Amino acid sequence: MTGNATPSIGVAVVGATGRMGREVIRALVSPDQPGGGFRLVAAVARSAQGVDAGTLAGIGPLGVAVRSDLAPLEGADVVIDFSLPGAASALFSAAAERALPLVSGTTGLDASAEQALKALAAKAPVCWAPNFSQGVTLLMHLARQATVGAGEGFDAEIVEMHHRHKRDAPSGTAVRLAEVVGEAKGIGRDGWVQGRSGEVGARPQKELGVMALRGGTVVGEHTLILAGEGERIELTHRGEDRAIFARGAVRAAAWLRGQAPGLYGMEDVMGLRSQV
Ligand code: NAD
Repeated sequence: MTGNATPSIGVAVVGATGRMGREVIRALVSPDQPGGGFRLVAAVARSAQGVDAGTLAGIGPLGVAVRSDLAPLEGADVVIDFSLPGAASALFSAAAERALPLVSGTTGLDASAEQALKALAAKAPVCWAPNFSQGVTLLMHLARQATVGAGEGFDAEIVEMHHRHKRDAPSGTAVRLAEVVGEAKGIGRDGWVQGRSGEVGARPQKELGVMALRGGTVVGEHTLILAGEGERIELTHRGEDRAIFARGAVRAAAWLRGQAPGLYGMEDVMGLRSQV
């Protein structure tokens, strides 16, 4: 899989048969993957037992059959997890027993899973992020800087758009963006406005618009508008496919090598943390 002489990083993918797990497997073998040099050593999932994980990912056999138990983690240098919250506690505890570095994008973790994640992070480097897109990580960083820099004279509005099938609104990423901008402007959730209609009156300064549009096949777009007197700044991220999350997760897996135990985010992977 690596095509070079440097020791490759053995990766176990948990949730290997899911939409994200298959994207991760495709990203691992992609020749233009930054930090390349990976090999798939284990594929864990609840479905498709015994089927080759590469075949499931549409890239041909990789010689790694899907298993439901966590024993194959033994041979991995790092785990990449995109499974479901119900699988998390057992996975994090198993990784902790082996002090295995872990990248996890599984969302909706309950308190016991978060506890297990922290226990693992005491023994090994861990990167958990609700959104592994490198562009979205950068958007959050730039949004914080721009909002602070623009100051009180600029009103902040957030607009997101997703495909017609999305069930929740606003998106988790828009919520996080609103939190970042709200922190910078001193506006809590009670200042968020999620629609305007009728005689709403003049816009108060301590207001933050968070608007959700739905339609078509849009994968995900998020824009922060900072509107001042006679000028306006717009920061937009456009996601074109789910592979962006997989690429970020694989970048994080490469970065974890050599890191001290601890709980990290994509800001750390991208070197943005200290520049906030
Ligand atoms: P999916 O339903 O397509 O796949 C889930 C996978 O987990 C399957 O392979 C399934 O067999 C496996 N699984 C379920 N229970 C398991 C168990 N007990 N043990 C082992 N494997 C188990 O879901 P998806 O769309 O691929 O999303 C997976 C997770 O990633 C979700 O939590 C989703 O919210 C999250 N996600 C995160 C990001 C991010 O950037 N952080 C991006 C997209 C999705």
